[in-house]
Amino acid sequence: MNSSSTTTATTTATIMSNNLIINSSASASASAAGGGSSSNNNHPPPLSRYESQKRRDWNTFGQYLKNQRPPVSLSQCNCNHVLEFMRYLDQFGKTKVHMHGCVFFGQPDPPAPCTCPLRQAWGSLDALIGRLRAAYEEHGGSPETNPFGNGVIRVYLREVKDCQAKARGILYKKKKKKKKISHPNT
Ligand SMILES: [Zn+2]
Repeated sequence: MNSSSTTTATTTATIMSNNLIINSSASASASAAGGGSSSNNNHPPPLSRYESQKRRDWNTFGQYLKNQRPPVSLSQCNCNHVLEFMRYLDQFGKTKVHMHGCVFFGQPDPPAPCTCPLRQAWGSLDALIGRLRAAYEEHGGSPETNPFGNGVIRVYLREVKDCQAKARGILYKKKKKKKKISHPNT
């Protein structure tokens, strides 16, 4: 039990998706026991881009927790680890975010290079957190304690968004549901 528990944990997602396929075709293939049933082949269906990215993200995050001193187990993981993880990822970022003192602050298309740091773009972080949030629950984490769904993370992401929008002079399109406000002018 113990020896296999670590390997089963990593393949849970695959098994789950296989089960879904088997379950959905169970009634149809009941009569075709010997024939064209393809439910027990050894090739799992190819993962979608989203699914494979999610798996990569999850592995990266797991590795990050393991590399902490002392290592952090998934059950100990809280929103502070997630915040630190996002800051850690900034060093691999490719998005120029101008500092307040930079002459290009607020310019979407600067005419010359500057020494401002590269960061993870808000959109990448936002998508990453969404994938990790789903992966956390797929790996047995409870939605109530999901650190990726914590309000602290939402606040942090909003700050990153606002800060980057100002620094880069970019307005992220907001789907505003405009309610008709009637201002009686007369
Ligand atoms: Zn700059």
